[in-house]
Amino acid sequence: MKNNCAVIGLGNVGKTICYSLIKEKLFNTIYLLDINENLTIAEKNDLSDGVILSSFTNIKKGSYQDLSSCEFIIISAGISQSSVKSRLEQTSSALKIFDSILINLKKANYDKFIIICSNPVDILTFYTIKKLNYDYHKVIGSGTLLDTNRYKNILSTYLNIPSKNINGYVLGEHGSGAVTLFSSTLINNLPLNEYLKANNLSINKEEIEENIKKRGFEIVKGKGATFYGISECVVYIIKNILFSTNNLLPLSILSPSKDFAYSYLVNINKNGIEISKENYLLSDENEKKKLENSKNNLINFIKEKKI
Ligand code: NAD
Repeated sequence: MKNNCAVIGLGNVGKTICYSLIKEKLFNTIYLLDINENLTIAEKNDLSDGVILSSFTNIKKGSYQDLSSCEFIIISAGISQSSVKSRLEQTSSALKIFDSILINLKKANYDKFIIICSNPVDILTFYTIKKLNYDYHKVIGSGTLLDTNRYKNILSTYLNIPSKNINGYVLGEHGSGAVTLFSSTLINNLPLNEYLKANNLSINKEEIEENIKKRGFEIVKGKGATFYGISECVVYIIKNILFSTNNLLPLSILSPSKDFAYSYLVNINKNGIEISKENYLLSDENEKKKLENSKNNLINFIKEKKI
């Protein structure tokens, strides 16, 4: 436990990430940064009061100068999920927030891992790489890892089986542009369609895909924000890097054409992320078309808004 990290943005998501990281005992020191000074001090004190019983992690109010000692920066700064009106509005506010953060990363000459979960996550991942001219292997957007968890949970309810028995992915743009890869999903090690046939079952794939997309909004409607799901995704990404797993994960990465970022299947290890060759083996024409649409929507948005 010799690494340090910093969490920038200590709202619902950021503070939950801090709590999860403390519980995992992954870092020696976690630096807390938020534009709201009182909030930063309050979170530092509250987390520290708990840490004393369970962990040796130091919780400190950080500054951008502290980042040079950090192996990871997690950016969860943004606007409250319940106040999001449109994608456009969310993007322009998020870009302003990111401008104020990225300028400080540049000044600090930061060159280690940057994990982004603020929304719109794919646009912000692309923007960060472009604005900092950064090694794209080290800028990791949480992307559709959360959508993939949602898919497994929703499908497990439809099929009444444990979600751990489902191996499948959601790729493309996180949220409304996400594409569920039903065709390559395995249930108890059988392709989904074969499993359904063998068990005389049928499912409504469009409905499932809609439910995945609606899940975040439904949670926000019920409790004002989503944070446990995304914070576990962030911790999982960090563990995959620290333990150099070479796992295959759906994460937001700069595209090979370098004009957008969204979730591809990536290999993850101590060097960061790299697009895996499995992406080019997708065979379902409908899913490929949907991924192409998701990509074109992002490219057009980026061009139109001159991001
Ligand atoms: P929140 O409003 O509770 O917290 C946002 C925090 O960011 C606030 O504490 C605010 O003071 C801080 N902040 C704003 N500007 C800042 C700046 N320039 N520097 C430092 N801190 C700044 O919001 P939340 O619910 O925690 O959500 C945070 C972000 O995470 C949002 O963009 C949200 O959409 C996103 N999110 C992403 C996923 C995902 O799957 N990628 C899931 C949930 C939430």
